[in-house]
Amino acid sequence: MFNSPYLKRVYQDLLTKSGHEPEFLQAVNEFLASMDLLVDSDPEIERLGIIERLVEPERMIIFRVPWLDDQGKIHVNRGFRVQYNSAIGPYKGGIRFDRSVNQSIMKFLAFEQTFKNALTGLPMGGAKGGADFDPVGKSDNEIMRFCQSFMAELYRHLGENTDVPAGDFGVGAREIGFMFGYYKKLKNEFTGVFTGKGLSYGGSLVRPQATGFGVCYFALEMLKDLRNEDFTNKKIIITGSGNVGSFCAVKAKALGGKVIAMNDISGMVYDEKGLDVDLVVELKAKHLNLDAYAKMHPQVKFSHNLKDIWDIPGDLVFPCATQNEIGMEEAKKLVDNKTLLVCEGANMPTTNEATQYLLEHGVLFAPGKAANAGGVATSGLEMSQNAMRFSWTFAEVDQRLKDIMKNIYQNVYQTSLKMGQPGNLVVGANVAGFLKVYEAMKAQGVI
Ligand code: NDP
Repeated sequence: MFNSPYLKRVYQDLLTKSGHEPEFLQAVNEFLASMDLLVDSDPEIERLGIIERLVEPERMIIFRVPWLDDQGKIHVNRGFRVQYNSAIGPYKGGIRFDRSVNQSIMKFLAFEQTFKNALTGLPMGGAKGGADFDPVGKSDNEIMRFCQSFMAELYRHLGENTDVPAGDFGVGAREIGFMFGYYKKLKNEFTGVFTGKGLSYGGSLVRPQATGFGVCYFALEMLKDLRNEDFTNKKIIITGSGNVGSFCAVKAKALGGKVIAMNDISGMVYDEKGLDVDLVVELKAKHLNLDAYAKMHPQVKFSHNLKDIWDIPGDLVFPCATQNEIGMEEAKKLVDNKTLLVCEGANMPTTNEATQYLLEHGVLFAPGKAANAGGVATSGLEMSQNAMRFSWTFAEVDQRLKDIMKNIYQNVYQTSLKMGQPGNLVVGANVAGFLKVYEAMKAQGVI
Protein backbone atom coordinates (compact mmCIF):
# COMPACT_ATOMS: atom_id res chain seq x y z
CA MET A 1 0.00 0.00 0.00
CA PHE A 2 0.97 3.68 -0.23
CA ASN A 3 0.72 6.34 2.46
CA SER A 4 1.29 9.61 0.62
CA PRO A 5 -1.91 11.75 0.67
CA TYR A 6 -1.12 12.76 -2.94
CA LEU A 7 -0.94 9.16 -4.15
CA LYS A 8 -4.07 8.26 -2.20
CA ARG A 9 -5.95 11.16 -3.82
CA VAL A 10 -4.84 10.19 -7.33
CA TYR A 11 -5.79 6.57 -6.74
CA GLN A 12 -9.18 7.55 -5.31
CA ASP A 13 -9.90 9.62 -8.42
CA LEU A 14 -8.83 6.71 -10.58
CA LEU A 15 -11.15 4.37 -8.70
CA THR A 16 -14.04 6.70 -9.51
CA LYS A 17 -13.16 6.80 -13.21
CA SER A 18 -11.80 3.30 -13.77
CA GLY A 19 -13.34 1.23 -10.98
CA HIS A 20 -14.53 -1.26 -13.58
CA GLU A 21 -10.97 -1.98 -14.79
CA PRO A 22 -9.51 -4.46 -12.26
CA GLU A 23 -6.30 -5.38 -14.08
CA PHE A 24 -5.46 -1.73 -14.74
CA LEU A 25 -6.11 -0.81 -11.11
CA GLN A 26 -3.96 -3.73 -9.98
CA ALA A 27 -1.02 -2.59 -12.11
CA VAL A 28 -1.35 1.04 -10.96
CA ASN A 29 -1.68 -0.05 -7.35
CA GLU A 30 1.54 -2.07 -7.50
CA PHE A 31 3.33 0.88 -9.11
CA LEU A 32 2.07 3.48 -6.62
CA ALA A 33 3.14 1.27 -3.71
CA SER A 34 6.74 1.86 -4.85
CA MET A 35 6.38 5.64 -5.13
CA ASP A 36 5.92 6.87 -1.54
CA LEU A 37 9.53 7.73 -0.85
CA LEU A 38 10.08 9.53 -4.17
CA VAL A 39 6.89 11.54 -3.95
CA ASP A 40 7.75 12.63 -0.39
CA SER A 41 11.27 13.68 -1.37
CA ASP A 42 10.41 15.53 -4.61
CA PRO A 43 7.41 17.92 -4.42
CA GLU A 44 7.81 18.63 -8.16
CA ILE A 45 6.17 15.28 -8.91
CA GLU A 46 2.93 16.51 -7.38
CA ARG A 47 3.22 20.11 -8.62
CA LEU A 48 3.64 18.92 -12.19
CA GLY A 49 0.79 16.42 -11.87
CA ILE A 50 3.11 13.65 -13.04
CA ILE A 51 1.25 10.76 -11.41
CA GLU A 52 -2.15 12.05 -12.60
CA ARG A 53 -0.73 12.16 -16.12
CA LEU A 54 0.82 8.71 -15.79
CA VAL A 55 -2.42 7.01 -14.82
CA GLU A 56 -4.17 8.37 -17.93
CA PRO A 57 -3.15 7.07 -21.37
CA GLU A 58 -2.26 9.73 -23.95
CA ARG A 59 -4.70 8.20 -26.44
CA MET A 60 -6.97 5.16 -26.80
CA ILE A 61 -8.33 3.95 -30.10
CA ILE A 62 -11.24 1.51 -29.98
CA PHE A 63 -12.64 0.19 -33.23
CA ARG A 64 -14.88 -2.34 -34.90
CA VAL A 65 -13.23 -5.29 -36.66
CA PRO A 66 -15.69 -7.06 -38.98
CA TRP A 67 -14.46 -10.19 -40.78
CA LEU A 68 -15.76 -13.02 -42.91
CA ASP A 69 -15.32 -16.67 -41.87
CA ASP A 70 -14.80 -19.54 -44.30
CA GLN A 71 -18.55 -20.23 -44.38
CA GLY A 72 -19.30 -16.67 -45.49
CA LYS A 73 -20.65 -15.54 -42.12
CA ILE A 74 -19.65 -12.09 -40.79
CA HIS A 75 -18.27 -11.73 -37.27
CA VAL A 76 -17.47 -8.54 -35.39
CA ASN A 77 -14.70 -8.13 -32.83
CA ARG A 78 -13.50 -5.12 -30.87
CA GLY A 79 -10.02 -3.76 -31.63
CA PHE A 80 -7.89 -1.61 -29.32
CA ARG A 81 -4.70 0.41 -29.42
CA VAL A 82 -3.68 2.17 -26.23
CA GLN A 83 -0.96 4.74 -27.00
CA TYR A 84 0.01 5.18 -23.42
CA ASN A 85 3.07 7.39 -23.14
CA SER A 86 5.45 8.84 -25.75
CA ALA A 87 7.77 10.82 -23.45
CA ILE A 88 10.90 8.89 -24.36
CA GLY A 89 10.17 7.63 -27.89
CA PRO A 90 7.53 6.45 -30.37
CA TYR A 91 4.80 4.25 -28.93
CA LYS A 92 5.91 0.63 -28.80
CA GLY A 93 4.16 -2.49 -27.56
CA GLY A 94 2.67 -5.76 -28.71
CA ILE A 95 -0.70 -6.77 -30.12
CA ARG A 96 -2.68 -9.48 -28.34
CA PHE A 97 -5.46 -11.57 -29.88
CA ASP A 98 -7.37 -13.42 -27.21
CA ARG A 99 -11.00 -13.70 -26.25
CA SER A 100 -10.20 -12.14 -22.84
CA VAL A 101 -8.97 -8.85 -24.34
CA ASN A 102 -10.78 -5.79 -22.99
CA GLN A 103 -10.02 -2.17 -22.12
CA SER A 104 -8.75 -2.97 -18.64
CA ILE A 105 -6.26 -5.58 -19.88
CA MET A 106 -5.08 -3.32 -22.71
CA LYS A 107 -4.53 -0.42 -20.31
CA PHE A 108 -2.64 -2.46 -17.73
CA LEU A 109 -0.35 -3.88 -20.40
CA ALA A 110 0.30 -0.45 -21.95
CA PHE A 111 0.93 1.10 -18.53
CA GLU A 112 3.50 -1.57 -17.63
CA GLN A 113 5.03 -1.38 -21.11
CA THR A 114 5.84 2.30 -20.57
CA PHE A 115 8.17 1.55 -17.65
CA LYS A 116 9.51 -1.67 -19.17
CA ASN A 117 10.55 0.15 -22.32
CA ALA A 118 12.21 2.85 -20.23
CA LEU A 119 14.24 0.17 -18.43
CA THR A 120 15.71 -1.14 -21.69
CA GLY A 121 17.60 2.13 -22.11
CA LEU A 122 16.25 2.41 -25.67
CA PRO A 123 14.09 5.32 -26.93
CA MET A 124 10.65 3.68 -26.92
CA GLY A 125 7.37 4.92 -25.47
CA GLY A 126 4.69 2.57 -24.18
CA ALA A 127 1.63 1.12 -25.96
CA LYS A 128 -0.39 -2.05 -26.32
CA GLY A 129 -3.13 -3.23 -28.61
CA GLY A 130 -5.23 -6.19 -29.57
CA ALA A 131 -8.67 -7.59 -30.09
CA ASP A 132 -11.08 -9.95 -28.34
CA PHE A 133 -10.59 -12.34 -31.25
CA ASP A 134 -9.86 -15.97 -30.45
CA PRO A 135 -7.44 -17.40 -33.06
CA VAL A 136 -7.94 -20.97 -31.78
CA GLY A 137 -9.45 -23.19 -34.44
CA LYS A 138 -9.41 -20.52 -37.16
CA SER A 139 -8.07 -21.32 -40.63
CA ASP A 140 -5.09 -19.42 -42.08
CA ASN A 141 -7.49 -17.57 -44.39
CA GLU A 142 -9.72 -16.52 -41.51
CA ILE A 143 -6.68 -15.29 -39.59
CA MET A 144 -5.55 -13.33 -42.65
CA ARG A 145 -8.94 -11.73 -43.17
CA PHE A 146 -9.12 -10.79 -39.51
CA CYS A 147 -5.60 -9.28 -39.53
CA GLN A 148 -6.40 -7.28 -42.66
CA SER A 149 -9.63 -5.90 -41.22
CA PHE A 150 -7.81 -5.03 -37.97
CA MET A 151 -5.12 -3.21 -39.93
CA ALA A 152 -7.64 -1.42 -42.17
CA GLU A 153 -8.34 0.81 -39.18
CA LEU A 154 -5.13 0.67 -37.20
CA TYR A 155 -2.78 1.59 -40.07
CA ARG A 156 -3.66 5.30 -39.87
CA HIS A 157 -2.40 5.48 -36.28
CA LEU A 158 0.95 3.76 -36.91
CA GLY A 159 4.30 4.83 -38.35
CA GLU A 160 7.97 4.10 -37.74
CA ASN A 161 8.29 7.39 -35.81
CA THR A 162 4.79 7.26 -34.32
CA ASP A 163 3.81 3.79 -33.16
CA VAL A 164 5.51 0.46 -33.85
CA PRO A 165 3.57 -2.66 -32.73
CA ALA A 166 4.87 -6.21 -32.25
CA GLY A 167 3.41 -9.61 -31.30
CA ASP A 168 2.06 -10.88 -27.99
CA PHE A 169 -0.38 -13.57 -26.93
CA GLY A 170 -1.96 -15.08 -30.06
CA VAL A 171 0.09 -12.92 -32.42
CA GLY A 172 3.20 -14.57 -33.86
CA ALA A 173 5.10 -14.53 -37.15
CA ARG A 174 2.03 -15.46 -39.23
CA GLU A 175 -0.16 -12.65 -37.88
CA ILE A 176 2.66 -10.06 -38.03
CA GLY A 177 3.25 -11.05 -41.67
CA PHE A 178 -0.43 -10.51 -42.56
CA MET A 179 -0.63 -7.20 -40.70
CA PHE A 180 2.65 -5.85 -42.05
CA GLY A 181 1.69 -6.85 -45.60
CA TYR A 182 -1.63 -5.05 -45.38
CA TYR A 183 -0.07 -1.95 -43.81
CA LYS A 184 2.45 -1.82 -46.68
CA LYS A 185 -0.34 -2.10 -49.25
CA LEU A 186 -2.44 0.66 -47.66
CA LYS A 187 0.44 3.08 -47.12
CA ASN A 188 2.41 2.17 -50.23
CA GLU A 189 5.64 2.25 -48.27
CA PHE A 190 8.04 -0.32 -46.84
CA THR A 191 9.08 0.83 -43.39
CA GLY A 192 10.00 -0.84 -40.12
CA VAL A 193 6.54 -0.27 -38.70
CA PHE A 194 6.27 -3.68 -37.05
CA THR A 195 8.84 -5.67 -35.12
CA GLY A 196 8.89 -9.44 -34.95
CA LYS A 197 8.86 -9.47 -38.75
CA GLY A 198 10.09 -12.49 -40.76
CA LEU A 199 13.79 -12.50 -41.64
CA SER A 200 13.05 -12.18 -45.36
CA TYR A 201 11.37 -8.78 -44.88
CA GLY A 202 13.31 -6.91 -42.24
CA GLY A 203 13.07 -9.06 -39.10
CA SER A 204 15.92 -9.43 -36.65
CA LEU A 205 17.67 -12.64 -35.70
CA VAL A 206 16.98 -13.62 -32.06
CA ARG A 207 13.65 -11.65 -31.93
CA PRO A 208 11.55 -14.86 -31.70
CA GLN A 209 13.72 -16.17 -28.87
CA ALA A 210 14.42 -12.81 -27.21
CA THR A 211 11.83 -12.62 -24.43
CA GLY A 212 12.42 -16.21 -23.25
CA PHE A 213 16.21 -15.95 -23.53
CA GLY A 214 16.18 -12.53 -21.84
CA VAL A 215 14.15 -13.88 -18.92
CA CYS A 216 16.87 -16.49 -18.31
CA TYR A 217 19.70 -13.95 -18.68
CA PHE A 218 17.98 -11.77 -16.08
CA ALA A 219 17.43 -14.70 -13.71
CA LEU A 220 21.06 -15.76 -14.08
CA GLU A 221 22.33 -12.28 -13.15
CA MET A 222 20.07 -12.24 -10.13
CA LEU A 223 21.08 -15.73 -8.99
CA LYS A 224 24.78 -14.95 -9.37
CA ASP A 225 24.56 -11.59 -7.66
CA LEU A 226 22.28 -12.39 -4.76
CA ARG A 227 22.93 -16.10 -4.09
CA ASN A 228 26.20 -16.93 -5.84
CA GLU A 229 24.20 -19.55 -7.78
CA ASP A 230 23.43 -20.41 -11.41
CA PHE A 231 21.14 -22.76 -13.40
CA THR A 232 23.32 -25.86 -13.09
CA ASN A 233 21.19 -28.88 -12.12
CA LYS A 234 18.34 -26.67 -10.98
CA LYS A 235 14.83 -28.06 -11.41
CA ILE A 236 12.93 -25.65 -13.63
CA ILE A 237 9.16 -25.18 -13.87
CA ILE A 238 7.63 -23.07 -16.64
CA THR A 239 3.99 -22.15 -17.13
CA GLY A 240 2.83 -21.46 -20.67
CA SER A 241 4.69 -22.97 -23.56
CA GLY A 242 4.14 -20.30 -26.20
CA ASN A 243 6.70 -17.88 -27.51
CA VAL A 244 8.04 -16.84 -24.11
CA GLY A 245 7.71 -20.16 -22.28
CA SER A 246 9.18 -22.40 -24.98
CA PHE A 247 12.29 -20.27 -25.56
CA CYS A 248 12.71 -19.78 -21.83
CA ALA A 249 12.82 -23.60 -21.64
CA VAL A 250 15.44 -23.81 -24.40
CA LYS A 251 17.75 -21.28 -22.71
CA ALA A 252 17.19 -22.69 -19.21
CA LYS A 253 18.35 -26.08 -20.47
CA ALA A 254 21.31 -24.57 -22.33
CA LEU A 255 22.38 -22.89 -19.09
CA GLY A 256 22.48 -26.27 -17.33
CA GLY A 257 19.00 -26.45 -15.80
CA LYS A 258 16.54 -29.34 -16.04
CA VAL A 259 13.07 -28.30 -17.24
CA ILE A 260 10.82 -30.79 -15.44
CA ALA A 261 7.32 -29.34 -15.95
CA MET A 262 5.44 -27.08 -18.36
CA ASN A 263 1.79 -26.38 -19.09
CA ASP A 264 -0.55 -24.88 -21.65
CA ILE A 265 -4.31 -24.78 -22.13
CA SER A 266 -4.41 -28.54 -22.81
CA GLY A 267 -2.81 -29.45 -19.48
CA MET A 268 0.51 -30.06 -17.76
CA VAL A 269 3.44 -32.34 -18.57
CA TYR A 270 5.91 -33.45 -15.90
CA ASP A 271 9.05 -35.50 -16.33
CA GLU A 272 11.51 -35.73 -13.46
CA LYS A 273 14.25 -36.66 -15.95
CA GLY A 274 13.72 -33.43 -17.89
CA LEU A 275 11.46 -32.56 -20.83
CA ASP A 276 12.54 -32.55 -24.46
CA VAL A 277 12.39 -28.77 -24.86
CA ASP A 278 13.23 -28.81 -28.57
CA LEU A 279 10.17 -30.95 -29.15
CA VAL A 280 8.03 -28.40 -27.26
CA VAL A 281 9.30 -25.65 -29.62
CA GLU A 282 8.62 -27.91 -32.63
CA LEU A 283 5.06 -28.68 -31.52
CA LYS A 284 4.27 -25.05 -30.78
CA ALA A 285 5.53 -24.00 -34.21
CA LYS A 286 2.90 -26.39 -35.61
CA HIS A 287 0.26 -24.88 -33.27
CA LEU A 288 0.04 -28.20 -31.36
CA ASN A 289 -0.43 -28.53 -27.61
CA LEU A 290 1.31 -30.41 -24.82
CA ASP A 291 -1.24 -33.22 -24.94
CA ALA A 292 0.47 -34.10 -28.24
CA TYR A 293 3.81 -34.17 -26.36
CA ALA A 294 2.35 -36.58 -23.82
CA LYS A 295 1.13 -38.91 -26.58
CA MET A 296 4.65 -38.99 -28.08
CA HIS A 297 6.27 -39.58 -24.66
CA PRO A 298 3.99 -41.97 -22.74
CA GLN A 299 6.43 -42.07 -19.77
CA VAL A 300 5.66 -38.43 -18.79
CA LYS A 301 2.99 -37.57 -16.29
CA PHE A 302 0.20 -35.63 -18.02
CA SER A 303 -2.70 -33.94 -16.31
CA HIS A 304 -5.55 -32.08 -17.98
CA ASN A 305 -5.61 -29.83 -14.92
CA LEU A 306 -2.97 -27.27 -15.87
CA LYS A 307 -2.94 -25.97 -12.28
CA ASP A 308 -1.39 -29.26 -11.07
CA ILE A 309 1.93 -27.68 -12.04
CA TRP A 310 1.92 -25.73 -8.76
CA ASP A 311 2.16 -28.97 -6.75
CA ILE A 312 5.52 -29.86 -8.26
CA PRO A 313 8.58 -28.72 -6.32
CA GLY A 314 11.09 -26.80 -8.44
CA ASP A 315 14.06 -24.52 -7.74
CA LEU A 316 13.46 -21.90 -10.42
CA VAL A 317 9.90 -21.06 -11.48
CA PHE A 318 9.10 -19.03 -14.59
CA PRO A 319 5.44 -18.04 -14.99
CA CYS A 320 5.26 -17.35 -18.75
CA ALA A 321 1.55 -17.75 -19.54
CA THR A 322 -0.77 -14.94 -18.50
CA GLN A 323 -1.79 -12.41 -15.84
CA ASN A 324 -2.67 -13.49 -12.29
CA GLU A 325 -1.56 -17.12 -12.58
CA ILE A 326 0.02 -16.95 -9.11
CA GLY A 327 -2.38 -15.98 -6.36
CA MET A 328 -2.00 -16.64 -2.64
CA GLU A 329 -2.73 -20.37 -2.97
CA GLU A 330 0.03 -20.83 -5.53
CA ALA A 331 2.44 -18.52 -3.65
CA LYS A 332 2.01 -20.60 -0.48
CA LYS A 333 2.80 -23.77 -2.43
CA LEU A 334 5.91 -22.14 -3.90
CA VAL A 335 7.13 -21.17 -0.43
CA ASP A 336 6.30 -24.63 1.02
CA ASN A 337 8.22 -26.19 -1.88
CA LYS A 338 11.28 -24.05 -1.03
CA THR A 339 11.39 -22.32 -4.40
CA LEU A 340 14.60 -20.34 -4.79
CA LEU A 341 13.45 -17.89 -7.48
CA VAL A 342 10.28 -16.79 -9.27
CA CYS A 343 11.06 -14.90 -12.46
CA GLU A 344 8.09 -13.46 -14.39
CA GLY A 345 8.14 -14.11 -18.13
CA ALA A 346 4.51 -13.10 -18.55
CA ASN A 347 3.10 -9.67 -17.74
CA MET A 348 1.75 -9.45 -14.17
CA PRO A 349 1.41 -13.23 -13.66
CA THR A 350 1.58 -12.71 -9.89
CA THR A 351 -1.06 -10.87 -7.88
CA ASN A 352 0.17 -8.04 -5.63
CA GLU A 353 -0.71 -10.02 -2.51
CA ALA A 354 1.18 -13.09 -3.74
CA THR A 355 4.22 -10.99 -4.71
CA GLN A 356 4.33 -9.57 -1.22
CA TYR A 357 4.07 -13.04 0.30
CA LEU A 358 6.93 -14.39 -1.82
CA LEU A 359 9.15 -11.42 -0.97
CA GLU A 360 8.38 -11.72 2.74
CA HIS A 361 9.31 -15.41 2.65
CA GLY A 362 12.70 -14.84 1.06
CA VAL A 363 11.92 -16.08 -2.47
CA LEU A 364 13.97 -14.17 -5.04
CA PHE A 365 11.41 -12.34 -7.16
CA ALA A 366 12.04 -10.87 -10.61
CA PRO A 367 9.14 -8.70 -11.85
CA GLY A 368 8.10 -9.04 -15.49
CA LYS A 369 8.51 -5.33 -16.11
CA ALA A 370 12.27 -5.89 -15.86
CA ALA A 371 12.74 -9.61 -16.50
CA ASN A 372 10.72 -9.91 -19.71
CA ALA A 373 12.03 -6.70 -21.28
CA GLY A 374 14.35 -8.66 -23.58
CA GLY A 375 11.61 -9.00 -26.22
CA VAL A 376 10.96 -5.31 -26.60
CA ALA A 377 14.68 -4.55 -26.27
CA THR A 378 15.35 -6.79 -29.26
CA SER A 379 12.46 -5.11 -31.05
CA GLY A 380 14.38 -1.89 -30.44
CA LEU A 381 17.42 -3.54 -32.03
CA GLU A 382 15.24 -4.59 -34.98
CA MET A 383 14.16 -0.94 -35.40
CA SER A 384 17.82 0.16 -35.39
CA GLN A 385 18.73 -2.44 -38.01
CA ASN A 386 15.76 -1.38 -40.18
CA ALA A 387 16.76 2.27 -39.91
CA MET A 388 20.32 1.40 -40.96
CA ARG A 389 19.06 -1.07 -43.59
CA PHE A 390 21.51 -3.55 -42.14
CA SER A 391 21.38 -6.89 -40.23
CA TRP A 392 23.46 -8.04 -37.33
CA THR A 393 24.39 -11.73 -36.89
CA PHE A 394 22.65 -13.99 -34.36
CA ALA A 395 25.69 -13.79 -32.07
CA GLU A 396 25.79 -9.98 -32.24
CA VAL A 397 22.11 -9.55 -31.38
CA ASP A 398 22.32 -12.21 -28.64
CA GLN A 399 25.32 -10.45 -27.08
CA ARG A 400 23.48 -7.09 -27.13
CA LEU A 401 20.47 -8.78 -25.53
CA LYS A 402 22.66 -10.26 -22.77
CA ASP A 403 24.25 -6.86 -22.12
CA ILE A 404 20.87 -5.15 -21.99
CA MET A 405 19.47 -7.71 -19.52
CA LYS A 406 22.57 -7.38 -17.35
CA ASN A 407 22.23 -3.58 -17.36
CA ILE A 408 18.53 -3.77 -16.53
CA TYR A 409 19.28 -6.07 -13.60
CA GLN A 410 22.04 -3.79 -12.29
CA ASN A 411 19.93 -0.65 -12.71
CA VAL A 412 16.96 -2.21 -10.96
CA TYR A 413 19.03 -3.72 -8.15
CA GLN A 414 20.97 -0.50 -7.52
CA THR A 415 17.69 1.41 -7.43
CA SER A 416 16.32 -1.03 -4.84
CA LEU A 417 19.36 -0.19 -2.69
CA LYS A 418 18.81 3.55 -3.12
CA MET A 419 15.19 3.13 -2.07
CA GLY A 420 16.32 1.37 1.11
CA GLN A 421 14.81 -1.96 0.02
CA PRO A 422 17.78 -4.07 -1.08
CA GLY A 423 16.78 -6.90 -3.43
CA ASN A 424 13.16 -5.73 -3.78
CA LEU A 425 13.25 -5.57 -7.55
CA VAL A 426 9.55 -4.67 -7.76
CA VAL A 427 10.37 -1.33 -6.16
CA GLY A 428 13.65 -1.12 -8.10
CA ALA A 429 11.94 -1.64 -11.47
CA ASN A 430 9.06 0.74 -10.79
CA VAL A 431 11.30 3.54 -9.57
CA ALA A 432 14.04 3.14 -12.20
CA GLY A 433 11.47 3.03 -15.03
CA PHE A 434 9.56 5.97 -13.57
CA LEU A 435 12.64 8.19 -13.16
CA LYS A 436 13.47 7.99 -16.86
CA VAL A 437 9.92 8.78 -17.99
CA TYR A 438 9.59 11.53 -15.36
CA GLU A 439 12.75 13.32 -16.51
CA ALA A 440 11.49 13.38 -20.09
CA MET A 441 7.98 14.51 -19.12
CA LYS A 442 9.42 17.31 -16.99
CA ALA A 443 11.57 18.54 -19.88
CA GLN A 444 8.69 18.52 -22.38
CA GLY A 445 6.25 20.71 -20.48
CA VAL A 446 2.53 20.22 -20.05
CA ILE A 447 1.46 18.11 -23.03
P1 NDP B 1 1.74 -17.20 -26.69
O1 NDP B 1 0.36 -17.03 -27.19
O2 NDP B 1 2.83 -17.51 -27.63
O3 NDP B 1 1.77 -18.30 -25.53
C1 NDP B 1 0.96 -18.27 -24.42
C2 NDP B 1 1.04 -19.64 -23.78
O4 NDP B 1 0.34 -19.66 -22.54
C3 NDP B 1 0.44 -20.73 -24.63
O5 NDP B 1 1.21 -21.91 -24.47
C4 NDP B 1 -0.96 -20.92 -24.02
O6 NDP B 1 -1.48 -22.22 -24.22
C5 NDP B 1 -0.61 -20.73 -22.56
N1 NDP B 1 -1.70 -20.33 -21.70
C6 NDP B 1 -2.68 -19.43 -21.90
N2 NDP B 1 -3.42 -19.30 -20.80
C7 NDP B 1 -2.88 -20.13 -19.89
C8 NDP B 1 -3.17 -20.45 -18.55
N3 NDP B 1 -4.20 -19.88 -17.92
N4 NDP B 1 -2.36 -21.33 -17.91
C9 NDP B 1 -1.32 -21.91 -18.53
N5 NDP B 1 -1.00 -21.66 -19.80
C10 NDP B 1 -1.77 -20.78 -20.47
O7 NDP B 1 2.06 -15.85 -25.89
P2 NDP B 1 3.47 -15.28 -25.45
O8 NDP B 1 4.37 -16.40 -25.08
O9 NDP B 1 3.90 -14.30 -26.46
O10 NDP B 1 3.07 -14.44 -24.17
C11 NDP B 1 2.98 -15.01 -22.87
C12 NDP B 1 3.05 -13.90 -21.83
O11 NDP B 1 4.30 -13.19 -21.98
C13 NDP B 1 1.95 -12.84 -21.94
O12 NDP B 1 1.68 -12.34 -20.64
C14 NDP B 1 2.64 -11.72 -22.74
O13 NDP B 1 2.05 -10.45 -22.53
C15 NDP B 1 4.04 -11.79 -22.14
N6 NDP B 1 5.09 -11.21 -22.95
C16 NDP B 1 5.29 -11.61 -24.25
C17 NDP B 1 6.32 -11.06 -24.99
C18 NDP B 1 6.65 -11.54 -26.35
O14 NDP B 1 7.69 -11.08 -26.90
N7 NDP B 1 5.89 -12.42 -26.95
C19 NDP B 1 7.15 -9.97 -24.44
C20 NDP B 1 6.93 -9.70 -23.04
C21 NDP B 1 5.90 -10.28 -22.35
P3 NDP B 1 -1.90 -22.75 -25.68
O15 NDP B 1 -0.58 -22.95 -26.43
O16 NDP B 1 -2.58 -24.01 -25.39
O17 NDP B 1 -2.76 -21.68 -26.28
